[in-house]
Amino acid sequence: MKRHLIAGNWKMNLRRESGIALARAIAQHPSPKADIAVCPPFAYLESVASALRGSSVALGAQNASQFDDGAFTGEVSCQMLMELGCRYVILGHSERRTVMGETDEIVNAKVLKALAAGLRPIVCVGEHLADRESGKTFDVVRRQFERSLAGLSPDQMRQTVIAYEPIWAIGTGKVATPPQAQEIHADLRKQVENRYNSAIAQQSILLYGGSVKPDNAVALMGQTDIDGALVGGASLAAAAFLAIVDACP
Ligand code: PEP
Repeated sequence: MKRHLIAGNWKMNLRRESGIALARAIAQHPSPKADIAVCPPFAYLESVASALRGSSVALGAQNASQFDDGAFTGEVSCQMLMELGCRYVILGHSERRTVMGETDEIVNAKVLKALAAGLRPIVCVGEHLADRESGKTFDVVRRQFERSLAGLSPDQMRQTVIAYEPIWAIGTGKVATPPQAQEIHADLRKQVENRYNSAIAQQSILLYGGSVKPDNAVALMGQTDIDGALVGGASLAAAAFLAIVDACP
């Protein structure tokens, strides 16, 4: 059976010491059923990498540049993230799409750079509340899949994780019901199958994100096409995050 992946997106939270303490608590927790990744702010990647050393918990970043080295003030390249020991990088998170103006084309350029550097991208897609209320959820998510993941070879698709994160459910406490999430995940898997083949579709890791908490994790993680979670708020406390890890079937 494919192992679930639970990834914590710390966003711009915690401080060095609290991040190290959280990483240590997660690293000490046995996790026979799920793979775990933590994605701290850039500033703490190195400290958290040291705290995780010797454990099976993977390190991820929350963003990366679509450029290689050069005159790009404030940017961090995928090669730099590799050097810091990252295995994953979250790309196209809705906060970057809506607050920083990242388009599908920019996200796609970042995904291709990440894969070329040897990182596994966690690519976020998801609709606004207005899209859902006007019946456009499938169209919006399919378009983001098409454009953000354009030009990936079959091998690159195998390395790529997709996170379905309905924007109305992020940080709001409103969670998609398990059937609502499942139907989008099933459709995403179908998109992967249509573009590649059923073996790649079955191997693909599709995460759900949006107010995942210990009390809703069992029902969400039990859905056929949900292979794990991208967790924001609940990833900042070891007990809540590890309860989500333990909720995996
Ligand atoms: C996220 O930001 O990726 C997220 C899912 O946040 P939360 O769990 O807080 O809704």
